[in-house]
Amino acid sequence: MSQHLVWLRTDLRILDNPALFSAAESGHVTALFLLTPEQWQIHGIAPRKIAFILRSLDVVSEQLAERGIETKIILSSRFEDAPRKVLEVATSIQATSVFWNDEIAVDEQRRDDAVAHALSEAGINVTRHHAFTSLPPGSVRKPDGSPYSIFTPFKKRWISICVDRGIHTFPMPESQGPKTPATKAPVTVGDVAKSLGSENWPAGEREGLKLLDRFPDAAILEYDNQRDLPDLEGTSKLSPHLAAGTLSANHCLKAAYACNGHRLSGGNPNIDTWISELIWREFYNHILVEHPRLAMSRAFRPETDLLPWNHSREQLERWQRGETGFPFVDAGMRQLNATGWMHNRLRMVTAQFLAKHLFLDWRLGEAYFMSQLVDGDFAANNGGWQWSASTGTDAVPYFRIFNPVRQAERFDPQGTFVRRMIPELAEASPKQTLEPWKFGGVGNYPAPMIDLGEARDRTLAVWKLARAK
Ligand SMILES: Cc1cc2nc3c(=O)[nH]c(=O)nc-3n(C[C@H](O)[C@H](O)[C@H](O)COP(=O)(O)OP(=O)(O)OC[C@H]3O[C@@H](n4cnc5c(N)ncnc54)[C@H](O)[C@@H]3O)c2cc1C
Repeated sequence: MSQHLVWLRTDLRILDNPALFSAAESGHVTALFLLTPEQWQIHGIAPRKIAFILRSLDVVSEQLAERGIETKIILSSRFEDAPRKVLEVATSIQATSVFWNDEIAVDEQRRDDAVAHALSEAGINVTRHHAFTSLPPGSVRKPDGSPYSIFTPFKKRWISICVDRGIHTFPMPESQGPKTPATKAPVTVGDVAKSLGSENWPAGEREGLKLLDRFPDAAILEYDNQRDLPDLEGTSKLSPHLAAGTLSANHCLKAAYACNGHRLSGGNPNIDTWISELIWREFYNHILVEHPRLAMSRAFRPETDLLPWNHSREQLERWQRGETGFPFVDAGMRQLNATGWMHNRLRMVTAQFLAKHLFLDWRLGEAYFMSQLVDGDFAANNGGWQWSASTGTDAVPYFRIFNPVRQAERFDPQGTFVRRMIPELAEASPKQTLEPWKFGGVGNYPAPMIDLGEARDRTLAVWKLARAK
């Protein structure tokens, strides 16, 4: 029987894993995961995300061991070591083929091409699948073959392709023999402890499936009303699983499709909206592949790279610590710092505050989010930041600037979320949580770091000047 190596990456699951399934169909499988601590550091990956990956790796290794499949977990430090490491393992098990699911970002694609080259030089076959998004990047284009840059027509086309193709998921691989001992990821990698964040983020495919099973029964039917209210559990919290690949996009879509009367749109409006959010994830991943410069710190709209962005370290650090003096902004930042996750409404509010009111370079905020987020995903994070900063594709117009006080009035009117996140405001009245400075301040909560109106006018003036040139 042929020996196959399956290289796991952002697909730490046994369900709907096309590389794993196809390899197991045609040979005896050994799985491989490369620990790349230096590369994670270079990419600024959050310790909580690394820990989530390590815990998910334990789970998938156990699931595979139950099916008689061994997982080799190997230290490889940087992507440039990958060709040698993968070749060594493939050779050691006399693999005739190596299978993997492609990753989207630029460095990952380059690494994969180098690995494929090294393997084929050694006479080992390479089989590449796609599993990170539902439809592979490049497959959703305008009739003239050019990429979409606006979400709504992309979504329309995406849905029509999906309806034609159907949403398919791969079953789990057949057992390959008696149970083998499961390999465990190290307890620490670099200076990251595997247990970091485990109280908030149970990892692995089974936990992802549990969340997905619960969501369609309850919150999804109130999604339109509740998804913007950070005090409620109104969203799925599936993002860490989608980012680490412990659940597939197709799996989520299939669940939503089933409870939406077998429709991707035109069904229950709440479920339609949730499906749209998954399509935003598709959109940003497709955009990243179509425009690789986005992975090189460039704006989608190049002219915005010429704006005189502010780089004040002191202002950045106040924003990072959640000490801007604007409670709704600070509540979001403190949620991020404490848990590694931030509610979507607050991601928009905090990002706009940084890029619009402080006029700090949006890339500083993007990098900080990545360094903290348990669900850090390059395409979604970059897309969200460029949307907020008005430098991106289909972004919010430059003159639309969220006022954090008005946002709090709409989405946390009683201040419940603010009080929960900011201990200095734990006893504040609803009005005090909106504008504590109007009451002479509350306790030792900081005074506002800027005047909102002045900051807004300054930013609009800079944008107008740049646009007039
Ligand atoms: C500045 C900024 C940065 C962001 N960074 C990330 C990031 O690093 N990783 C990430 O997964 N999402 C990011 N998002 C998108 C969004 O905030 C999160 O996906 C969402 O909050 C995750 O919570 P949930 O799983 O409960 O979402 P749900 O509302 O339940 O949505 C389901 C899934 O759809 C996808 N999704 C939802 N909204 C978006 C969106 N606007 N763009 C892309 N995908 C979306 C996510 O995979 C999410 O898990 C960012 C948004 C902004 C404005």
